[in-house]
Amino acid sequence: MRFDIFTLFPEVLKPYLQTSILQRAQQRGLIEVHLHNIRDYATDKHRITDDEPYGGGGGMVMKPEPIFAAVESVLGSPPVCPVILLTPQGRVFNHQIAQHYATYPAVALICGRYEGIDERVREHLVTDELSIGDYVLSGGELPALVVLDAVSRFLPGVLGDPEGALDDSFASGLLEYPHYTRPAEFRGWKVPEVLLSGDHARIARWRREQALLRTWQRRPDLLERANLSQEDLAFLERLRTMEARTKEDQDEV
Ligand code: SAM
Repeated sequence: MRFDIFTLFPEVLKPYLQTSILQRAQQRGLIEVHLHNIRDYATDKHRITDDEPYGGGGGMVMKPEPIFAAVESVLGSPPVCPVILLTPQGRVFNHQIAQHYATYPAVALICGRYEGIDERVREHLVTDELSIGDYVLSGGELPALVVLDAVSRFLPGVLGDPEGALDDSFASGLLEYPHYTRPAEFRGWKVPEVLLSGDHARIARWRREQALLRTWQRRPDLLERANLSQEDLAFLERLRTMEARTKEDQDEV
């Protein structure tokens, strides 16, 4: 899959792309990442890419011409692939959106800076707008890396252990169970006995229950959409009963 990233600060992205899973994915030809400096497409003498906002107010706004020129000269007009603007005003990025974009052969990502970009880019060039959460960052570079990383994990061969991704949080509609590694005891804190038992059926059941418990405690909203078996539902019912009993006991005290 090909990613074209349009930014004023390509150097910010490079170290992350040259590390670990994403570096390996590029070396193995599974993903191709092209970084484009929007400034290279400014045609005036000083290569200006931003200007004051019409109507006044603080901050600068990224000009439309260099962004259109950059995207269209690389990807054609209209561009041949989805063009995603990273913006805190977009729909909030999640597992499903990442999975969706992993089905495309290519996507383009536009990183804003300053107060943001001229609205005409959003209206006439961009096909989707994604936010990585309800807070404001200084630029779209980290959000672009977040999207690229999450999408890449869905591509065949990118993860060393494809089975691992099936258990990842959100993959099954639940948060993932807790992990432990050696030593079996650290500062007196022991790894749950079941994980040392070698009994794969018991381990699988324990992990499933831990995933259900975590999701119930931390993200109960996910349970409404998760694919749950009769056994899962019975376990959740037991959790609810236990919670109700604890509450009754507390009320009595
Ligand atoms: N004035 C803008 C607003 O209130 O919507 C925020 C501009 S922000 C300082 C500069 C750039 O950072 C944005 O154009 C966008 O590309 C990126 N950015 C900031 N927060 C983001 C978020 N939560 N998700 C995605 N992109 C974000």
